[in-house]
Amino acid sequence: MKKIECKRCGTCCVKGGPVLHGDDLPLIKKNIIRPDQLVVIRDGEPAYNPIPDAVEPTSCEMLKIQGQSGGWQCLFYDATQKSCSIHTNRPLECRLLQCQDTAAILAVTGKDCLNRQDIIAQDDPILPHIQAFEQCSWHKVHALLATLGPESIAALEKILHTDLFLREQAITQLQLTLAQELFYFGRPMFQSLNHPGLQLTFADGMPRLHLP
Ligand code: SF4
Repeated sequence: MKKIECKRCGTCCVKGGPVLHGDDLPLIKKNIIRPDQLVVIRDGEPAYNPIPDAVEPTSCEMLKIQGQSGGWQCLFYDATQKSCSIHTNRPLECRLLQCQDTAAILAVTGKDCLNRQDIIAQDDPILPHIQAFEQCSWHKVHALLATLGPESIAALEKILHTDLFLREQAITQLQLTLAQELFYFGRPMFQSLNHPGLQLTFADGMPRLHLP
């Protein structure tokens, strides 16, 4: 069989860093990838799924390598050199991905994904803050989106505000950096909530939802 060579075009690294799997845990234990270089995609959060090639709610929590400058281009990608700064230690998905044949990477997508519990110590003071986010889970959001009306919109707004309040509280108490916030709590929910039946605006710095 003809061996498929990586052309090092960088397209996959520019599109976004990989989701980490159990196989990648040693990279974190050896500090090759630090927790504050990851972003959590919470259970049920809308995210790109390569299998249907669509944005859809995740079926479990996932950890992904953070992007650069507010975008998704992998933190470890050097666009000038078209190179990966951790190439010899690159995660499982990067080793499996071949542009011309995606079967190997699709076979592991969504399976044995690392989550925050795999990394955070049981006595870490961040844990009560993470647990508090259960009151604004993505599963509650999806249930409310299924019955859009004035009451559910008010409840959705409350969830978006609670999400912002909880992260602000943790940031202040524990002096978190933005990179740590992304690992512990992921992106603010209003950034990922993209529903055709809702318009998002801001008033006094807080997200508001409206029917179009
Ligand atoms: S870890 Fe390296 S190979 Fe993988 S997406 Fe990032 S830059 Fe590319």
